[in-house]
Amino acid sequence: MLNIIIAGPPGSGKGTQAKLMVEAFGFIHLSTGDMLRREIELGSPLGKEVESILARGDLVSDQIVISLISNNVNAHPRARGFLFDGFPRTLAQAQALDAFLEKTGHPLRMMILLDVDDSVCETRLLRRATLENRPDDTDALRVRHRLATYHSQTVPIIEHYKKQGKFVSVDSSKNPEYTFNQVSEWLKPIL
Ligand code: ADP
Repeated sequence: MLNIIIAGPPGSGKGTQAKLMVEAFGFIHLSTGDMLRREIELGSPLGKEVESILARGDLVSDQIVISLISNNVNAHPRARGFLFDGFPRTLAQAQALDAFLEKTGHPLRMMILLDVDDSVCETRLLRRATLENRPDDTDALRVRHRLATYHSQTVPIIEHYKKQGKFVSVDSSKNPEYTFNQVSEWLKPIL
């Protein structure tokens, strides 16, 4: 079983790469953003609790996303591998994931960072707001807030996985195919 994190700022193309990676390599895709949006659509108690947090572009509690992830991992005992997208987003989440995967006997193998400048992300997100129904993408202020949260909360995870020798980075500033070629080059030798 191969467990991989796909990481990067909002707008870096994690969802697009995740889709390509699932098609090519058969990962089970676990996106905390998708899970939370599904709860909101369903109108579940959890959805009601997190709706305004997502709309503001703040992070929901570590405890909520950690339990979403562990429930989903446990639901797929025969998975070939998991692709974690949008998780972990804080150091505490990374530590929880490490401990959880350690227990399954399949520790994290690699964190792939989609590297792209904030200005490119901002342009992409504002364009996405008109194509998809994402209230957190609709104005520059909210988008900048999410980028700032990424830099303060999520960037420290890079150091965490660098120390473990599990960190790699690819250029995600051009088109999806260009990025996916680099992702594939990292994955092929370990698949
Ligand atoms: P993006 O990377 O474009 O921000 P996501 O779909 O990954 O999109 O996340 C959307 C929102 O869902 C985040 O802004 C945050 O409010 C919430 N969220 C997703 N994943 C997490 C997480 N691991 N921890 C806390 N909040 C999260």
